[in-house]
Amino acid sequence: DAKLQSVLSCLSQLGRQLDPLPSMTAPDANCIKLNTNENPFALPSPVMQSAVAALERQYLYPENDNIGLREAAAKAYDLSRDQVIAGNGSSELLGLIYRAFLAPGDTVAMMSPGFSFNRKLAALQDAKFLEIGCGELQSLPIEQLLFGPAKDAKFILLANPNNPTGTFVPIADIERLVAQSDRLIVVDEAYVDFAPDSALRLINRYSNLLLLRTFSKSYATAGIRVGFGLGHPEIIGRLRNIQNVFNMNVISHAVGVSIFSHRPAYEENHKHIRDERERVSATLTQLGFSVTPSQANFLLARVPAGRDGIWWQTSLERKKILVAVFPDKGLKDCIRVSIGTKAQMDAFFEAVNDILRAES
Ligand code: PMP
Repeated sequence: DAKLQSVLSCLSQLGRQLDPLPSMTAPDANCIKLNTNENPFALPSPVMQSAVAALERQYLYPENDNIGLREAAAKAYDLSRDQVIAGNGSSELLGLIYRAFLAPGDTVAMMSPGFSFNRKLAALQDAKFLEIGCGELQSLPIEQLLFGPAKDAKFILLANPNNPTGTFVPIADIERLVAQSDRLIVVDEAYVDFAPDSALRLINRYSNLLLLRTFSKSYATAGIRVGFGLGHPEIIGRLRNIQNVFNMNVISHAVGVSIFSHRPAYEENHKHIRDERERVSATLTQLGFSVTPSQANFLLARVPAGRDGIWWQTSLERKKILVAVFPDKGLKDCIRVSIGTKAQMDAFFEAVNDILRAES
């Protein structure tokens, strides 16, 4: 069609390195979703009430500049409001960082294997995406990051705990990297509430550290979209400057503020997930899987010899259980399983047992 060709010829070259999006089928509501690291529990009731109350303000634009939410975050993290940017999920903030720091041809370095969305964001800037392999145990390759090919990177990104491995690097290692580097170090702490420590205490000491937080996992709001960036006011200011107006909605604001007032209500939730993580790890090990020690709300497990990760994913999906696989990250023999409720994990074990029985 000539009109379509004419319109397509006006597209900019942005994203030309990207593959077309795969066509997806609508998710089956009967499946147990253990593939995207969501938190399976309901919101504490005061947080839920704040969401419902926010609906009554649906005819108004949300507050400018996310002021109230940023103030609540600043108070909770013992920072100033200027050190906080609020996002429609932390993925919005990742996008801003890539846009702010990368021109075509620039390089960004990320610890690998890491969160795939970063590769796409680099491609959207026509930037080089340098993956620094960290081996199975994910120790921080400080020398390589400071003096290897990553030394020219405009910023360095790592997630702690990391996705998809769940591994955690000590904050002392992160401090050594931040102290020795003159580049921005972005530490994505999406899973930090399931881990023993955080780099938050370094924020006021190092202007080149930027932390990302999200409420999607530990505060059970993946569908509501609340995330934060914490860092030096000048860097945060530059990011806020290129952000969309009204990037968040009245419900995200209200829920975000309310969560900061009700964090103790989540302690049981987090304890359940940590305890269940250890139970799932022990059970999978007994069943012949080899599990990477995790400080997140998911486990990376190498499947028993003979079949690969995709085979397990397909076999589990037939039993209405969804898990994630990463064949393109050198993990073709692994599956990643999110930690759900006890009942969900029991259903997962039953499916795994059935599959193993049918194989033997
Ligand atoms: N960072 C990491 C490491 C993640 O795994 C995810 C979600 N999968 C995100 C960021 C994005 O989270 P959200 O946009 O929901 O805040």
